Amino acid sequence: MTLDQIAARVRQDQLEVLGAFHTTGEDNLGDGTVVLLGPSEDGFWPNFRASPEYNDGDDDPLDRWSERVICKASAELGAEPRFPFGTPHYPFLSWAIRSGRAWPSPVHLLVHDTAGLWVSYRGALILPERLDLPPHANNPCDTCDDKPCLTACPVGALTSQAYDLPACHSYLDTFPGRACMETGCAVRKACPQSQKHHRIEAQSAFHMDAFHT
Ligand code: SF4
Ligand code: SF4
Repeated sequence: MTLDQIAARVRQDQLEVLGAFHTTGEDNLGDGTVVLLGPSEDGFWPNFRASPEYNDGDDDPLDRWSERVICKASAELGAEPRFPFGTPHYPFLSWAIRSGRAWPSPVHLLVHDTAGLWVSYRGALILPERLDLPPHANNPCDTCDDKPCLTACPVGALTSQAYDLPACHSYLDTFPGRACMETGCAVRKACPQSQKHHRIEAQSAFHMDAFHT
């Protein structure tokens, strides 16, 4: 099994490999490889919009979609699935950093080498073998001189100091806050690496609705 073969399989469900790392004894996951999965840049949103989970009107459509497609891919790949939602809790944030493709940004959200501040993880595959892995990527923040993420929030709710959730939610209830609700968090959008990822606004609006309910 190779990482490219895994990437080809999960691409059928419009998912991407967002990173991978080898387990250690402390993980209690056996001697193998953790492969992190997230939405693909182009095809994820239309695929999810057409899914039964999106259209059935029940709660948590994205979590249920993720569980269905990642469990199926896991079974076909001889892997075990893990998810960043539900119980038991798995440390996806530290897994992301261990993959060498994500880092804490100046505003403390994770930034990813290709997805920027739009990065999100929908699940992981636990492979019972140590796959060949590429070298770690470069942190985009190291060459981002202006660091627009630090000043992009119109009400200063998300800065290097803190994430003031009450201030953010209050702003989202205002008319100017509709911009964040309909097109996504201005901080995430301001990141040059996010802008290269071309996130669909309707997808951002879906996440903002889930966040601001
Ligand atoms: S705007 Fe620049 S400093 Fe901020 S997360 Fe993006 S790359 Fe890093
Ligand atoms: S969603 Fe809008 S108000 Fe909230 S942190 Fe992001 S930019 Fe600020």
